[in-house]
Amino acid sequence: MWRILRPDALVVWESENVRSSLSHYYGVLTGSRPAKFRVVKRVPVECESRNLEDMWRIHDDKVNEFRELYLEVEDEPSKMDKMPMPPYSLLDLKVDITYKLLESCVLCEWRCGVNRIKGRNGVCGLNSEVRVASAFLHMGEEAPLVPSGTIFFTGCSFKCVFCQNWDISTNPSNGTSVTPKELAAIAVKLYKEGARNINYVGGNPDQQLHVILASLRYMDSNVPLLWNSNMYMSSESLKLLVDVIDIWLPDFKYGNNRCAMYLSKVPNYFDVVSRNHSIASRHGDIIIRHLVLPGHIECCTKPVLKWISENCPRALVNIMDQYRPEHLVSLYPVKFKDIARRPSVEELREAHEYADSLGIKWKEVS
Ligand code: SF4
Repeated sequence: MWRILRPDALVVWESENVRSSLSHYYGVLTGSRPAKFRVVKRVPVECESRNLEDMWRIHDDKVNEFRELYLEVEDEPSKMDKMPMPPYSLLDLKVDITYKLLESCVLCEWRCGVNRIKGRNGVCGLNSEVRVASAFLHMGEEAPLVPSGTIFFTGCSFKCVFCQNWDISTNPSNGTSVTPKELAAIAVKLYKEGARNINYVGGNPDQQLHVILASLRYMDSNVPLLWNSNMYMSSESLKLLVDVIDIWLPDFKYGNNRCAMYLSKVPNYFDVVSRNHSIASRHGDIIIRHLVLPGHIECCTKPVLKWISENCPRALVNIMDQYRPEHLVSLYPVKFKDIARRPSVEELREAHEYADSLGIKWKEVS
C-alpha cells in the first residue's frame, strides 16, 4: 500500500536505546513483523456458547494458540499471506466478550455494573455509543511515535481537576458517533496519510473497547496499534487487549491513592495502575508518561519512578514538564492553590536527577 512517509527511513534517526526498547514496534513499522491484531484475527475459534464463563475459557485457550502462531510468523511475515481468515476468529470472540461485559459494565475498575447496551451510563458518562471528537496526524507525541494517527474519543473514567482535554473528557456527547466500520475507515485513512501508528486516546480509550476491537474486523493494514490510556482498565479489559496492542503509552501520575483521590477523584489508583503497567510491560513495548505535578515530587514523582525502575526496567519514560493549571484549577485557584502553578525548574531538575540515579531511560523521549 502506498504511503506518504517511509517509516523505515525514519528509524535510523532514532537511538539504539529507543530501538532496542521498542523493537517490536519498529518491527511492525518497517514491515518485518505483523501487527498483533492481524494475527489475532487469523486464529480460528469454535464457540457456540453465549455463556461468559465458557467464552473466557475458550478465549484463554486460544490466546495460547495465538502466541505460538505469532512466534511462527514474527520472523517470516510472508507466512501471513497463506493464512486464511476464519469465519469466526479470536478477534470476534474478544468483541463478543466485550459486548457481554457492557451489559453490566466492568470495562474499568469503577465496575459500575450498569447496562450500557440499554443506554445506561456510569461514572464515565458513556452508554454504548462511541464518539470521536477528532482524528489527525499528531506531531506533538513522543519522537518515536510521530506522526501519530491519533483518534480522540469522548468521556473519561477520571475527573482530573487539571484536565487539559476537559472539553471532551467531561462531555461525552461531544464529537461524532462512529460505527466500528467508520472507525476503521478513520484509522486506515490516517495510515495512508503517513501515520506511524494508530493512537487510541481521549478522554480515555478503555471505555470504547467494544467499538475499537470491532473496528479491527474492517482493517488489515500492517500498522502498530497504540493504547494511550490512564491505565485504570479492569483486568478483564486488559486481558482482551494485551495480545492486540503493539505499543503502550500509559499515564502513571500518582505515587499513592490519596493524591489520586484528591486530584482525579478515583479510588485505589496506585494498586490498579501499577498492576496494569506490570502486565502491559510484559506483553509489549511501552513508553510510560509521568506528568510532574507541582508540589508532588516526594509523594508522586519519586515513588512512581522508583516503581518503574523496579518493575518495568525496559520501559522508556517520558517525564513530562508541561503541567499548567487548567480546568477546575484555573477556575478555583484558591481552592487548588497547591497546584495552581507550573512545576518549578528545581522540581523538574530533582525529577530528572532522581530518574538518572535509578537508571531510568527518559532522555530519548522527553
Ligand atoms: S467504563 Fe468504567 S466508568 Fe464507564 S460505566 Fe464502565 S465501569 Fe463505569
